[in-house]
Amino acid sequence: MTELEAARIELRDKWAARFGLTRSEGRCCVKRLLGKRCDYSRSDDFDCMEMGYDHPSLWNRDGKPVVFLFQPYQLGHDDILGLAEMARKHQFYLSVATRPAWHYPGSVLHIEIWASKEYYCLTTPHSEP
Ligand SMILES: [Zn+2]
Repeated sequence: MTELEAARIELRDKWAARFGLTRSEGRCCVKRLLGKRCDYSRSDDFDCMEMGYDHPSLWNRDGKPVVFLFQPYQLGHDDILGLAEMARKHQFYLSVATRPAWHYPGSVLHIEIWASKEYYCLTTPHSEP
């Protein structure tokens, strides 16, 4: 294992442990935050809600998906508007940070899409419910 790989795992595992999250099995799809199945037929395409996601992962709490995250190098105008529109439509809660961007620390953004305000408020420094 390289130093980068070890650093990635450490950052990822610390983040997951902090919020009591485990990696979700099955399709890595933002649609699953709605309690829906991913019905996309191509297993190599995670773009079920109109965005291309870089380095995506889906995380469970108490056995159900509560946060979808991805770590892009950048977000363009359409990406930002698309995210905002999706969040408003489904009442998702968004967080964009530089940490803990484990895919390439210091180079990518860490973007969390929480299924609800309740779950979003588990995180700091966000406000309490
Ligand atoms: Zn899907």
